[in-house]
Amino acid sequence: MKLLLVEDSERLRATLARGLREGGFTVDVAADGAAATGYLSAYAYDLVVLDLGLPRLDGFGVLRALPATGERPRVLVLSARDQVSDRIDALNAGADDYLVKPFSFDELLARLHALARRPGEARADVLEHAGVRLDPQSHQAWSNGTPIALTPREFALLELLLRHRGRVFARATILERIAGSASEASDRSIEVVVFSLRRKLADAGCEHLIENRRGAGYLIA
Ligand code: CA
Repeated sequence: MKLLLVEDSERLRATLARGLREGGFTVDVAADGAAATGYLSAYAYDLVVLDLGLPRLDGFGVLRALPATGERPRVLVLSARDQVSDRIDALNAGADDYLVKPFSFDELLARLHALARRPGEARADVLEHAGVRLDPQSHQAWSNGTPIALTPREFALLELLLRHRGRVFARATILERIAGSASEASDRSIEVVVFSLRRKLADAGCEHLIENRRGAGYLIA
C-alpha cells in the first residue's frame, strides 16, 4: 500500500511516518499542500492522510486538485478542526474519512485498513517490480515478459512480498498468510517455498529479488 502523508508539523509527521511504515505502508511525506499536489500528480497512491491546516495550499485545495473520477487515492483527513461543519466540508470536498486530532494511532491504522478494503472503482491490481509482473486476478506471473509457472504457495508468497514491499515477514507470519492456520505446514516448509521461488525467479533472470534478514524473515525491498 502506497501512502502519502501530508502534515506540516515536523514532529507529528516523523512520528506518523515511522508508525505507518511499521504498519506495512510505503510512505511518502509532504510538509505542505503544494508539495502534496506535486506528489499526487507524479505518483499513484492508494491512500492519503491529509491535514487541513497547511502552508502554501490548505487541505481543501489538495482535495480539489484530486481527479473527481477514475483512479484516485482514498483520503483520510486528520485535523484538529472538530466541528461537524468541518467534517461535512471535507467529505463534500472529496475526503473519504475524517479523524479528529488528538487521535489514537491504532484507530488511524484501523481506519486506513478499512479504507483500503472498501470496494470502489476497479483498481489496477497488477503488481510489478524489478521486471517481475504478477496478476492476482488471473494467477499469472512473468519475469521480463516470460511466464513463470508457480505453485499456489509460491504465487501467494510472491504476491505477499510484492504487495508489502519493504516490509520484513517472519516465517511464522508467512506461514499463516499463505498456508492458512489449519495447515500442517511448518516454518521449515516456508523455507522450501522460498527456496523454490527464488530458483524459479533466478532461472527467469531475476536474481536476488527476495532478501533474507537473518533472524527476522524475508522481504522484497
Ligand atoms: Ca497543520
